[in-house]
Amino acid sequence: MLSNLQDLSSWHEAVRSVRERAHGTFDQWFSSVELSSFTGSELRLVARDEFTRDWVKQHYQPALVEALESRLGQGVEVKWTVDPFIHEPVTEPPRRESVPPPAVSEPPPSPRPRVVARPSGPPGVQLGELNPKYTFANFVVGSSNELAYAAALGSAGSEDGPRYNPLFIAGGTGLGKTHLMHAIAHEVLRVQPNALVRYVSAERFTNEFIDAIQHRTMEEFRARYRQQCDLLLVDDIQFLAGREQTQEEFFHTFNALRDANKPIVVTSDKYPQQLQRMPERLVSRFTSGLVADIQVPRLETRVAIVKKKADVEGLEVPDGVAVMLAQAIQNNVRELEGALIRLAAKSSLTGRTIDEEFARSELSVVAPPSSEVVSVEDIQRAVCGHFRLTSADLLSKDRHKSVAFARQVAMYLCRQRLRSSFPELGRAFGNRDHTTVMSAVRRVESLRGRDPEVNAHLEAIEKQLGATGGH
Ligand code: ADP
Ligand code: MG
Repeated sequence: MLSNLQDLSSWHEAVRSVRERAHGTFDQWFSSVELSSFTGSELRLVARDEFTRDWVKQHYQPALVEALESRLGQGVEVKWTVDPFIHEPVTEPPRRESVPPPAVSEPPPSPRPRVVARPSGPPGVQLGELNPKYTFANFVVGSSNELAYAAALGSAGSEDGPRYNPLFIAGGTGLGKTHLMHAIAHEVLRVQPNALVRYVSAERFTNEFIDAIQHRTMEEFRARYRQQCDLLLVDDIQFLAGREQTQEEFFHTFNALRDANKPIVVTSDKYPQQLQRMPERLVSRFTSGLVADIQVPRLETRVAIVKKKADVEGLEVPDGVAVMLAQAIQNNVRELEGALIRLAAKSSLTGRTIDEEFARSELSVVAPPSSEVVSVEDIQRAVCGHFRLTSADLLSKDRHKSVAFARQVAMYLCRQRLRSSFPELGRAFGNRDHTTVMSAVRRVESLRGRDPEVNAHLEAIEKQLGATGGH
C-alpha cells in the first residue's frame, strides 16, 4: 500500500503545521518515527521503539490527526509498528555538533528523554534505553570479535569485581560495540535486577554534565555516576575529544568507580592511543585494563549475522540471499542489516518472495557498482597483466597453481565490482560451472585480510582498475 502524491503532500503539510506549533522536542521525537504509508484514511507510522511510539501517540498524534482530518474532510486512522531500523525518519535529529562549553549561558537543547525509570529499581534509578534485541544470544561470534565478546561476557558475569577494569572496546562504526554494551547491561540486570546499571553515550554524559553545571545539580550528577552506579557503560568515548571540562569530570568519575571496584566499560571508534585531543592521563587509564578490538567480520560471520538477524526478525531468507548480502556489504554490519530489512520491507510491500533474483535487483540499489565502467574483459586483462598470463591461459582448463590462483582472483574481482551472477561469471570464464566460481570467490574472500601476499596482489590490480569499486 503506497501513498499517492496528494496524500503525501497532505501529510507533509500536517507535519509542518504541527511542528510549528510544537515546542522544541518535535524534531527529537520524529527523528525516530518513519512514515510507512498514508492513504488518506489510514496513516501507518513506524517508531524506533515503544517508548517513542507511546510518547508520540500521546503528545503529537491527536494534533496530527486533526490537521489531516481537517485538510481531507474525512476520518484518519493511525496504525503503529515498532522497528529499530527505520531509514527515513520524518525529521532529522537536531544537530548538536559542537556542545557549547559549560561557561556559555544558553541552555543546551533538551536531550531526547531517553532515560526511563526502572520501576523495579530503587528510587531514582535510571537506565538509558536498551535495545531488547541487543543481547549476547543475538550476537554472532567470529574471529573478528571473539575477544571483545568474551571480555564483555566477563564484565557482565563476575561477582567479585571485574577481571579487567576498564574494558575498552575499540572498533569501526557498525561493528557491534553498542550491541555488546547493551548485552552486558541486559545480562547484569538479568542476574541482579536491582543493580544500578548506567548506560550512557559520551555525548549524553557531556550534556548531562553541562546541564548539571547550569542548573547547579552537580551533586546529583556526581552521585548518579559515582555512588549510585554498580556498572558504568560509556559508549563512543571519542566524543569527549577536546571537551576538557567533561574529560576532567569523567576522569574523577572513572577513578571513583575503579577505586570502588565497580566495572567500567568504554567503547570507541579508535584505539586509546589514537584518540584525538584526549589527555594522556585518560588515555593511560583506558589502556590500564583490557583493550579489545572488533574487526570487520569475515564472510562466514557476515552470513551468520544475516541469518541470525533474519531469525530474530522472523524473516524467511534463503541461504543464497544471505551469502549475496554478506558479499555485497562487507565493512559495516549495520548497513548489512539495513539491506536485509529493506529487502524484507520491499518484499512485504510488493508480495515478492525474497529470492536471489529479487535480492540482486535490490542490491544494485544499495551498493551500486563502481562508477568506473569496468567489464569482465577489463578485469581479466588487468589480472593477466599483473600475473603475466595470456587471456587464453586464464580461460583455459589449466589447473597449475599460479594460473588457477590468477583465475580465482579475476573471478573474485568480477564478482566484487560487477556483481554478476555466478552462472554469468562461469560462462565468462571458459564455461565453468557456477559452483567453481562460487568457491573461487569464497577462497579469495577468505584469504583477503589474512594473507598479506594475496592482499598485495589484489591491491595492485585494483589500483590498476581504479580502486573505487567493491570496497
Ligand atoms: P557500533 O556501536 O559498533 O557502531 P552497533 O552495535 O550499533 O555498532 O551494531 C550495528 C548493528 O549491527 C546492530 O544492529 C547490531 O545488532 C549488529 N551487529 C553488529 N555485530 C553483530 C554481531 N556480531 N552479531 C549480530 N549483530 C551484530
Ligand atoms: Mg555504537
